[in-house]
Amino acid sequence: MNRIGIDVGGTTAKAALVDSEGRVLARHNFPTGYHLTGESLLAGCVEAVHRLTRDSAAASLGIAAPGFRRADGEGVENVSNLPGLDDFPIRTRCREALGLPVVVDNDANAAAYGEWAFGARAGCRRLLVMTLGTGIGGAMVVDGALLRISGGCLGDPGHLILDPDGPRCACGGRGCAETLAAVPAIVRAAAAAMPERAIHSLADVTAAARNGDPKATEVLASAGRRLGTLLTSLIHVLTPDRILLGGGGMDAAGHYLIPAAKQAIADCVQPFLAAGLTIDRAALGNDAGAVGAAALSSTNS
Ligand SMILES: [Zn+2]
Repeated sequence: MNRIGIDVGGTTAKAALVDSEGRVLARHNFPTGYHLTGESLLAGCVEAVHRLTRDSAAASLGIAAPGFRRADGEGVENVSNLPGLDDFPIRTRCREALGLPVVVDNDANAAAYGEWAFGARAGCRRLLVMTLGTGIGGAMVVDGALLRISGGCLGDPGHLILDPDGPRCACGGRGCAETLAAVPAIVRAAAAAMPERAIHSLADVTAAARNGDPKATEVLASAGRRLGTLLTSLIHVLTPDRILLGGGGMDAAGHYLIPAAKQAIADCVQPFLAAGLTIDRAALGNDAGAVGAAALSSTNS
């Protein structure tokens, strides 16, 4: 049974026709952006579904978007980079326009559910999936169901505070994990540590590390330790038996970040809470949101 998932991001929406094994059969992207309205998202979703079902029917549609999931499941709210989606009932409007069952969820939830549905479920009861990119996101699947603590999701774990004297965060707090370990923070720290180099991206930082620059290695190790501190706090509350780390930051620098994170966890975690815990890279990569949204659309959640 093929299904469609649409991952609505800050600049692009990625739509995919996905089969029952999680394979992407066809793709169609359309632009979004800060001024995206609910009506224009609806039009983009409808066109995407029509294009993707020209040759093959789909049983349902899942839409993943940033922000918190509305309690009635109709859409998302508090989406800082796509404010036009607040209060727009995209689920009902898509269902009416397409005649398909539609599910809407938070994008971190969709990614975590996709990892669980198409790979991580074997022997795993409590799966925590964290993504490192411009921000830090996370979601958890417990016994096959998404853990909905607040906002229809895990809350906002990227804003757990690691250093109350740390830099000011866009959220208004200080020393949130995002200000210390997300990709922009790593790039900023590397640029400050290596003024002699042109550091504009995480790839520049890892290139310097590969070339043997100890300052680059230390910046990456420091960010990995911060990430490990965040994960340790989450382990103490959520007791996952598996953690998967994904997102663009892991694609670019997971090789450096994950060992440092594991070391920080080993240093500080209460051992009985981490017994049997495994930590690996997420498997679905860039497709996680769309593939996971397609999988979620089979659940009517
Ligand atoms: Zn914050």
